[in-house]
Amino acid sequence: MAQKKVKIFKKQVTKKMEKKPTAIKSAKAINTVKKIVKTTSAKKREKARVQLEEEILMQPPRGMRDLLPGDQPYWDQIRRVVSRMALEYGFGRIDTPAVEYANLFIRSIGDGTDIVDKEMYIFNTKGGDKVSLRPEMTAGIARAYIQHGMNVLSKPVKLFATGPVYRYDRPQEGRYREHFQAEFDVFGEQDPILDAQLIQLAHRVVTSLGLKNIQFQVNSLGCPKCRKEYQELLVAYFESKKQKLCLNCKKRLETNPLRILDCKEDKCIQVAEMAPQSVDRLCPECRVHFKNILEYLDELDLPYVINPRLVRGLSYYTKTVFEIWSGDEEGKKHSLGGGGRYDYLIEQLGGERTSAIGFALGMDRVVAEMKRVHAKSYTQPRPRVFLAQLGDLAKKKSLRIFAELQKNGILVAESFGRGSLKSQLRVADRLGVEITLIVGQKEALDETVIIKDMTSGTQETVTNEKLVNAVKKILKNNVVVSHSDELKTQDAE
Ligand code: AMP
Repeated sequence: MAQKKVKIFKKQVTKKMEKKPTAIKSAKAINTVKKIVKTTSAKKREKARVQLEEEILMQPPRGMRDLLPGDQPYWDQIRRVVSRMALEYGFGRIDTPAVEYANLFIRSIGDGTDIVDKEMYIFNTKGGDKVSLRPEMTAGIARAYIQHGMNVLSKPVKLFATGPVYRYDRPQEGRYREHFQAEFDVFGEQDPILDAQLIQLAHRVVTSLGLKNIQFQVNSLGCPKCRKEYQELLVAYFESKKQKLCLNCKKRLETNPLRILDCKEDKCIQVAEMAPQSVDRLCPECRVHFKNILEYLDELDLPYVINPRLVRGLSYYTKTVFEIWSGDEEGKKHSLGGGGRYDYLIEQLGGERTSAIGFALGMDRVVAEMKRVHAKSYTQPRPRVFLAQLGDLAKKKSLRIFAELQKNGILVAESFGRGSLKSQLRVADRLGVEITLIVGQKEALDETVIIKDMTSGTQETVTNEKLVNAVKKILKNNVVVSHSDELKTQDAE
């Protein structure tokens, strides 16, 4: 009996190992597994199993990941460029919760979309509310726009946000269950110049980040009126080709026929090639709107193509939809971001009729693309001064000195945990600082500091009061790099 139990358990463990190979990489975990499969005592087995569970928990949930310090310069660069562009184009920052009532997303994004049908992280709170992690940002921002009466503000109201979004999708390269977006939304204007300006903004963000080979894919889905007629035509066409569609698309024919146009299955692509195109079925108003956007894009010399199969996965879009694609000339192109008009969403959620347009940039994909093309990441200013201390009293004084220098804009490195002066100086050497400050027992008592100029090798002792000025003098008042200048140069490139 015991043998049989071990066998079953061994099977379970193997299954776990196959499912989560990274989880059992550590030697400790492997030993735990060995222990589990060897032991015949139920109690011991249980103990080992708990241990194994703990090992498995030493990683984030599937499809989620840590963004480690080594990658942060890329993220910093995006955040800086996004904030800079938001300022230039008059966007105010908004932060909405990562969790909203689930119905907000269901109502906005719509049944029959992959996001609502398959990808939402929905759960009931202890209080019984049905909530969801946000699978995109527009719905939360639209909710906030209505809730806070932003309709009384002078139009357009421009809002931007950055943060995580969650989709329970199959994880693969460039597709995570937690990913980060930078979102820009404009409320209260229906003029097509706003559509073009948003596309221009998207272009400036990605090119300022050093990305080349950018191409916009644009399409118009029309307003509810012309879209309805187009959709009927589309359904009739796909009905006639139903046998050639994949199983999913056969279902989509009932729930969301537009999505058949962007199915990735070869046979569906072939059928979609000959499908009626929305741009041919636009009502006069939508046609003029789309024509004007294209004229603006031509005027701006922005690289775009009309993609009649671009429908995007959210059903609130009307008129303009667009995506930003990047990648090799020949190789695979990836979507770095996308957006479109949603002139009826605010009304649909209970607000007054408000034209709106927005776009979301996939920050994870932008980082991957920046790395691929060796784009410049943000370089943190490096400390040019090192503070060393020797003895108990000096150690106590050094925290205050450290803060005083930082408050005055001087970046200081230290290694307070180390006792010996020699080992601290070794760290200073490794960092290549220009000045080392030394506080010993005598200096601590006298309220002074030794300043060692590492370039000339000279040293002097100054009082604590005069320290900041003395250090600044040596550094020639040149301690802070101007971030905005750095950005200006890049954009100009
Ligand atoms: P969407 O809201 O689907 O239009 O997504 C906007 C952008 O976010 C896309 O163009 C991608 O760059 C990025 N994105 C969407 N889904 C994911 C995902 N699962 N993982 C990483 N990035 C994503």
